[in-house]
Amino acid sequence: MNRARLALIVAGTLLSACVAAPQGSEGAVPAAAPAAAGALASVPSPPPPPSVSRPTPAPAPAEPARFVFSGELTQGGWIRGEVPRGTLSARLDDTEIAIGPDGHFFAGFNRDAEPAAVLSATLADGRTVTEQLTIAPRDWRLERVNADFTAGVPSESFMKRRRPELEAIAAARTAEAEAEGWQQNFIWPARGRISGRFGSQRIYRGGKEGSYHSGLDIAGGGGTPFVAPADGVVVLAAQEPFTLEGHLIIVDHGHGLNSAFLHASEIDVREGDRVRQGQVLGKIGASGRATGPHLHWSLMWRGARLDPLLILGED
Ligand SMILES: [Zn+2]
Repeated sequence: MNRARLALIVAGTLLSACVAAPQGSEGAVPAAAPAAAGALASVPSPPPPPSVSRPTPAPAPAEPARFVFSGELTQGGWIRGEVPRGTLSARLDDTEIAIGPDGHFFAGFNRDAEPAAVLSATLADGRTVTEQLTIAPRDWRLERVNADFTAGVPSESFMKRRRPELEAIAAARTAEAEAEGWQQNFIWPARGRISGRFGSQRIYRGGKEGSYHSGLDIAGGGGTPFVAPADGVVVLAAQEPFTLEGHLIIVDHGHGLNSAFLHASEIDVREGDRVRQGQVLGKIGASGRATGPHLHWSLMWRGARLDPLLILGED
């Protein structure tokens, strides 16, 4: 084993030692404060000096290391904010959070997120900071259909075509492009009637649940241009239509956040293009499996499906 490799292993051990810092270590610091206060209180204090002429050089107590954030603490929602000062790495439950050079971060909550989640940060001094989150459940729209659930087994010829499409989508969804769109206030990619909401689900005869709707459908009219809701990098642009998604575009907004746009009639961007918020990506269509022209917009953060309506600013 060479020296460099040994050094790496030692560094790795140190890092895991930091990560494994006991939960109690966080409490040890504040615990010292009451004891000190008690010691001070036991000393008879002289009468306070007149306060007019003396500057008070008492140092401000160090700010507690904590997460600061705002957003939508609900299923399909998100938060954006700053990690505690001195953070080396941070997680939402088991998912790694990307940290910007200024300590800013984004995290999202899946459609079926559990009611309790934990933000945690490992600090450079080895401490761990945790923050308990309460994720509000949503009252998802359920559509009861008087039909049997048919989980048709796809034919081998279909899967032969489908497999590389799924692989391309998975690769695009996990791409890590350098983009800053995750920090922006998102805008509507197109205007039109909302013809399908995120999270709605069909319930079949006998109570069998179908898969839920993974995005927001906007019936903007065939041929209407749609735009990037935030800055990003085009990580997939299907010039040849995919079987289900048709002409599909995926834009990486950075820090694990990305948008997919389905069923386009025309694509105006190429893979690798850097796009700005408001830039035209393509035209609304009905390519792939669609009953009529509409834009299906789905939003994901590190495998969690988010509700696009929750990230759109008020307007
Ligand atoms: Zn849809």
